[in-house]
Amino acid sequence: MVLMAENDNNNLSTDIRDSSYEDLILRIHQEKEQLGAILSSMSEGLVVTDINRRIILINQAAGILLRLAPDEAVGRNFGEVFQLYRKDQLIKREDSPLERAIENKNIISISLLEHFYLKNQNGRTLPVAMQVAPLLLNGEVTGGIILLRDITREQEVDQAKSEFVSLASHQLRTPLSSISWFIEMILDGDVGPVNKRQQEYLDVLYQSNQRLIELVNDLLDVSRIDLGTFIIDPKLTDLPTIAEEALVDLTSKIKIKNITVNKKYSESLPKVSVDPRLTHVIFSNLLSNAVKYTPEGGTVNLSIEPTDQEVVITVTDTGYGIPLADQPKIFTKLFRADNIKERDLEGTGLGLYIIKSILNHAGGRVWFDSLPDHGSTFRVAIPLAGMTQKEGTKILGFTNNSERKNR
Ligand code: ADP
Repeated sequence: MVLMAENDNNNLSTDIRDSSYEDLILRIHQEKEQLGAILSSMSEGLVVTDINRRIILINQAAGILLRLAPDEAVGRNFGEVFQLYRKDQLIKREDSPLERAIENKNIISISLLEHFYLKNQNGRTLPVAMQVAPLLLNGEVTGGIILLRDITREQEVDQAKSEFVSLASHQLRTPLSSISWFIEMILDGDVGPVNKRQQEYLDVLYQSNQRLIELVNDLLDVSRIDLGTFIIDPKLTDLPTIAEEALVDLTSKIKIKNITVNKKYSESLPKVSVDPRLTHVIFSNLLSNAVKYTPEGGTVNLSIEPTDQEVVITVTDTGYGIPLADQPKIFTKLFRADNIKERDLEGTGLGLYIIKSILNHAGGRVWFDSLPDHGSTFRVAIPLAGMTQKEGTKILGFTNNSERKNR
């Protein structure tokens, strides 16, 4: 009983204890064959490393993705054969999902949304989704397990979907804008007098059409973000001026809800090199959320202050807040918290996703604190050195004065 020498007798099943040495060898051999068959018929790539990040096992599918025969891969350092990129930036070994999984004893999932690419041994890069877990033995981390798959097809479908949304929303903008213009003309009496009842109906039509325009504009922005086609064109800009423009757009909503707005713009605030249009999107979304999600008679505070390295924009409200369980999902596309969905049927759940995506590209940050039924504070930090420029073909933040007119 060779195996028993190192193991607790009680841990071995009765049939193993009663087996002959030859039987055991045969069974071990059969199990190894079976494991080999399972690994090679898996469609997902599997790589297992030891604690020194050396590859100890790799299946055929992973070998095909890496363009490396499994025999050649075993024994090599994982980072040597597994070059990962996020978009076009090489991920440093210390920041790789394997390191994070091993260091934090955590499972790391990398989806299509994270834009990870694997550069294989032929020098080709392919989009991948991954699940990385620490390999645990008796609670101790002894290595890592990486499951990965090529998501070229999913990426193509995602791209086609974004292109369709972009095209459809672009086409919808023109007729919706003309509807607004014509309603405005009728309301202004350009084609004859309008009685009270007609005015009421036209006002409802106008507001509903404005909501459609906002939705279409948000969808257009999201598709341009997802396709990576949007431009960041930084210019030296006075941030309070942009904040004031965003507040002017909200005048009627602030008045209707009797919201007190307090503003604090630091005197030592320098002009910062930001894209004015994108900065307007940021102010406008944060401030309109604060007004929308604060009950009548509440307060919204806006401050813009420099720190050593950044300019911090803070928007605080005394509103409904965000339930704790919903807080981790708040920057996800189309997400709206339960407490808000009950009260307000009109939002799109796209504004914060747009802000976060802009800042991810521009080099800034956004975060928040929120206490349900007490209020929320959203903060955006933009480097004093300014936003990072980005080439592209399309602009974000589609609103013109007519669309923003508060009737
Ligand atoms: P929308 O406001 O159109 O729903 P956003 O992306 O701007 O979309 O916001 C997503 C969700 O985040 C909101 O639906 C709401 O649940 C929550 N949220 C954002 N800002 C606030 C705020 N100031 N107070 C409470 N909840 C907020």
